[in-house]
Amino acid sequence: MDIVFFGNGISEDPNPDKIRLGGKGSNLCRMAALGIPVPPGIVLPTTLCRDYMERGHLPPELMPSVHEKLKKVEEATGRHFANPHKPLLVSVRSGAPVSMPGMMDTILNLGLNADTVKGMVLETGDERFVLDSYRRFIQMFGDVVLGIPHHSFEEILNHHKKKSDAVQDTDLKPAALRDIIDDYRNLVQKGTGQPFPDDPFMQLRMAVEAVFRSWNNERAIYYRRLNHIPESYGTAVNVQSMVFGNMGNTSGTGVCFTRNPSTGERKFYGEFLINAQGEDVVAGIRTPQKIEELEREMPDVYKELLRIQALLESHYRDMQDIEFTVQQGKLYLLQTRNGKRTSAASLKIACDMVDEKLIDPRTALLRIEAEGLPALLAPIFDPTEVNAARSEKRVLAKGLNAGPGAASGYAVFQSAHAVEMAAKGKTPLLVRMETSPDDIKGMQHSSGILTARGGMTSHAAVVARGMNKPCVVGCSALIVHEEHGYADIVTEEGRHVRINEGDEVSIDGTSGEVFVGRMQTVDSDIQRAMRGEIDPASSWMARDFFQVMKWADEVRRLRVRANADTPQDANVARSFGAEGIGLCRTEHMFFGPERLPFMQQMILARTQEERELALKRLLPFQREDFERLFEAMAGYPVTIRLLDPPLHEFLPHTDEQIAELSQKIGVTEEHIRERASTLKESNPMLGHRGCRLGITYPEITRMQVRAILEAACKSRKKNIHVHPEIMVPLVGHRKELSLQKELLEVEAKRLLAEFDCHVDYKIGTMIEVPRAALTADQIAIDASFFSFGTNDLTQMTLGFSRDDSEPFLREYLRLGVYERNPFATVDESGVGEMIRIALQKGKSARHDLKTGVCGEQGGDPTSIRFFNRVGLDYVSCSPYRVPVARLAAAQAVLASE
Ligand code: PEP
Ligand code: MG
Repeated sequence: MDIVFFGNGISEDPNPDKIRLGGKGSNLCRMAALGIPVPPGIVLPTTLCRDYMERGHLPPELMPSVHEKLKKVEEATGRHFANPHKPLLVSVRSGAPVSMPGMMDTILNLGLNADTVKGMVLETGDERFVLDSYRRFIQMFGDVVLGIPHHSFEEILNHHKKKSDAVQDTDLKPAALRDIIDDYRNLVQKGTGQPFPDDPFMQLRMAVEAVFRSWNNERAIYYRRLNHIPESYGTAVNVQSMVFGNMGNTSGTGVCFTRNPSTGERKFYGEFLINAQGEDVVAGIRTPQKIEELEREMPDVYKELLRIQALLESHYRDMQDIEFTVQQGKLYLLQTRNGKRTSAASLKIACDMVDEKLIDPRTALLRIEAEGLPALLAPIFDPTEVNAARSEKRVLAKGLNAGPGAASGYAVFQSAHAVEMAAKGKTPLLVRMETSPDDIKGMQHSSGILTARGGMTSHAAVVARGMNKPCVVGCSALIVHEEHGYADIVTEEGRHVRINEGDEVSIDGTSGEVFVGRMQTVDSDIQRAMRGEIDPASSWMARDFFQVMKWADEVRRLRVRANADTPQDANVARSFGAEGIGLCRTEHMFFGPERLPFMQQMILARTQEERELALKRLLPFQREDFERLFEAMAGYPVTIRLLDPPLHEFLPHTDEQIAELSQKIGVTEEHIRERASTLKESNPMLGHRGCRLGITYPEITRMQVRAILEAACKSRKKNIHVHPEIMVPLVGHRKELSLQKELLEVEAKRLLAEFDCHVDYKIGTMIEVPRAALTADQIAIDASFFSFGTNDLTQMTLGFSRDDSEPFLREYLRLGVYERNPFATVDESGVGEMIRIALQKGKSARHDLKTGVCGEQGGDPTSIRFFNRVGLDYVSCSPYRVPVARLAAAQAVLASE
């Protein structure tokens, strides 16, 4: 049994590994070895949790080994477990390899029973304190280990508080506490049919088992799915000697960060509570004091804390999140870990640490979550509207600015309601007195989170930052009646305002303000700097962002292009650094009221003449758009895909749509109905689309190549370098591509001669039908490039309809059939294998084959790691994800090293 002892300057494990000892255990060992005061304790490694899961019970030799190791803790503390003379009390906590805040269970004050209580009273002379510790212990143990609902204990507590006129828990006198303890014990006897366990060894055994078990509680499983933490990790258990922050006014407890987790500012930052225990700060029940005030209250402790936080930051070379307790003037560190931070803070901290020479740019790149960048690019509230709202007294209240970004939404007061509302396509904003781990789903589905209680390190604040959501906490003007579906606010001017469920509210996570109604938003500094509207040097966020992008571009191998269908998209994409267009879906160029009717007319045409008439109307739109795309992407490749309209997306459905179309194109409603019903397909995604359309109606392909080359020649004449890549969609058989290629080449030759122009164009294909992947060597003969259409390739490889798989896919993800949504993250072992085969076969036939991906997965960091590994040349994604892809592509290179 490799149980590890730490404390008094010693770590038995010289190289405490997080995967084995869990994050908390590993860091406690490191701190002990650094000579930082930590309460001595032991770590039961994660291997034991896996063992427990397999057996379904604790191995018989485990507890004797724990007892043996505990002797070291007794020695280090001079106290004795299960002994009334100077009893050793311990905390039992989970500690996973990856931090899962609040997801699993903690038990404090373990080891108390009637005898040890007596001993403690003799020792401390503070009966109230000891009885209060005992009652907390029974409550936590009863809830976590014995499964008695927390609220049953709370009811007893509240009853006695009322009875003895106590406002705070600390107002309860020993007599009242004794009654509470009796009632708690009776509750346990009634609830479990057994007396509360008095033997500390039994308590310890049951607590260890409960922590192992909590690895598989519902909220921990949900959190792991959400954050892609492997199920196989298991949790370690930390059994640590107790220190007490609630032994009067020379004691206290606090949570701090070595830098501001919200803005990234390099300033020691945190909160504490005098005379409080353990989870009081995090639970957000009392609003804590700022850490600076500790200097006045306990100057020596403050000085020591400053020294330790600096030591920890330079040891870990990263921002640390620290928990400490002061017991009668003596400081103990309970935990340190890399602090969770907002995207803005991660950007600033990474760049600052490079400036401070703590880390190098490559490490900095790994410190910024690519998935967090969209939040930085996200709009902020329009400052003019904010000013107007202030003068119109639409500011309801102000809380703490716990997570930046701005959000509007419909107020909901219960997490379940947020989930329901989001399912209906509306955007909820979760408003609570405080949040608990049970709210995680509701938070996930909300645009933002607002709480009445809590500080910057409360559950709501920490989790919202992790989710990168706008969040305002500690908004004390707010009283939320969660059960009754409303909240009351008394504004600064003394107005009473009621918010009912479904009312629109807005929160600004940067200023902490809460507004009534919806607010307009404007672009962030980064966006404005990207468009050249402001000088990046004038805003730290823009400056750091540009710096990180530059580092990423120096490291990455994959090129990054954008999927852009309109000139506007192309301009945004360029400003975000796209190196060309990887997919222009030409059918998307015909959305909009002037264009759609002709597209529909083309689809509904009964004869070639009718179709050509519609195509003639479409040609100028298409040509002009192409010209502007070439201009936006001057010098870069532009991949234009031939028409691929799934027919059902373009046919008119309702009577109203049919009447409108009939008016616009001058065809009777009856005709439209008849044609639409002939064209109706039972399986449109596998129907008459892609190259099947261009093969059966060659005039469509002819019109498109004309539009492309006319636009290219016009651009050439303006001296713009154009590199059109004409892409044939939905090819499954070599012959499909060769038929289209022949048509394209004949037409291109004719047109270029007609315009007397030379254009360097390429013809290639999408690989999105499994047959194409499996016969890629034949297909490559006619294709100078492959672009993997992983949307269709996933649909067809898995046999999951892109449009209809949501209901069962949700269940599949829950059951772990697939670990991630295959339409968001490439399914490496299935679809990925198709890609590998196609690459290998394609390159065997054509060694200079260019390859890329243009499905949704092209902008997903995990998929990008895979695309980098298999050697694609580029990824293409939506314009707003281009910065994500640039960073992820660099991280992929660094990870592979
Ligand atoms: C694809 O199938 O991956 C693709 C990009 O094409 P579309 O989504 O338009 O079918
Ligand atoms: Mg497709």
